[in-house]
Amino acid sequence: MFKKGDLVLLIDSKGKRYLITLKEKGSFSFHKGKIEFREILGKREGETIVSSKGEKLLIFKPTLEEYILKMKRGAQIIYPKDIAQILTIGDIFPGAKVFEAGTGSGALTISLLRQVGKKGRVVSYEKRKEFLDQAKENITKFQNLRKEEWGKLILRERDIEKGITEKDFDRAILDLPEPWKVLKEMEKILKPGGILVCYLPTVLQIFNLIEEIEKNFGKVFYLMGIYEFLQRKWKKSGLSLRPEDRMVAHTGFIILIRKLKSSCKRNKKRF
Ligand code: SAH
Repeated sequence: MFKKGDLVLLIDSKGKRYLITLKEKGSFSFHKGKIEFREILGKREGETIVSSKGEKLLIFKPTLEEYILKMKRGAQIIYPKDIAQILTIGDIFPGAKVFEAGTGSGALTISLLRQVGKKGRVVSYEKRKEFLDQAKENITKFQNLRKEEWGKLILRERDIEKGITEKDFDRAILDLPEPWKVLKEMEKILKPGGILVCYLPTVLQIFNLIEEIEKNFGKVFYLMGIYEFLQRKWKKSGLSLRPEDRMVAHTGFIILIRKLKSSCKRNKKRF
């Protein structure tokens, strides 16, 4: 049953979604009228509520994807379609020790914490305090909503170009504009066989990253692949079943890199 402090996802007749925090008193207003919070309090997920202008809305607790898309952003988030792939091709497993930079709004951080579970840990660095504060708020709010077996989180307000204190990570994920500047750090903190995932919005950045690996880190890192993932939603209306007119056409590319056992004297041409 919905109670004070809960997050509620409202879906109107057109499928438009609204995320609200329930309070004891007050109301939520939108272009199709007003809904008093007290009408939602005590209701269950999947029930319908009617606004002052007669609009019917479904009420649910938000899924992690819905929460991420609606939560307050400091920095631009990694979209759930890309997060899903990072978790899968980046092989983030329960119990893993994962490094992340930057924390941004915390969208990826929350997803990592869920994936590594209570035996895992996530260490996340962010150089801007205002983003770190926003991320903390976003993460805690969702964790309070869902009593799951979250991983342990260590957040640090720090520029990773100035060094990383922790080491022996299974996985590292960089959502930074210039990841090629921290490959030395990644070499230090990742275990052999560890996976580095870089998330980059433009091809020139990918080019710079791979050039740097080829020139200076050929014996340390192996490029597994460069990926782009598209997600297209469809709709049915009467006899017409077809893709929606709009889609998120571009977000970022995912670059998957594997750490080699540093001491091995391999010739980079063999890869
Ligand atoms: N992945 C995040 C968004 C990260 S946006 C999410 O899903 O919500 C990129 C972030 O990297 C920004 O917040 C920026 O401040 C931070 N950043 C950029 N360079 C950095 C550095 N050298 N060290 C730490 N954080 C950095």
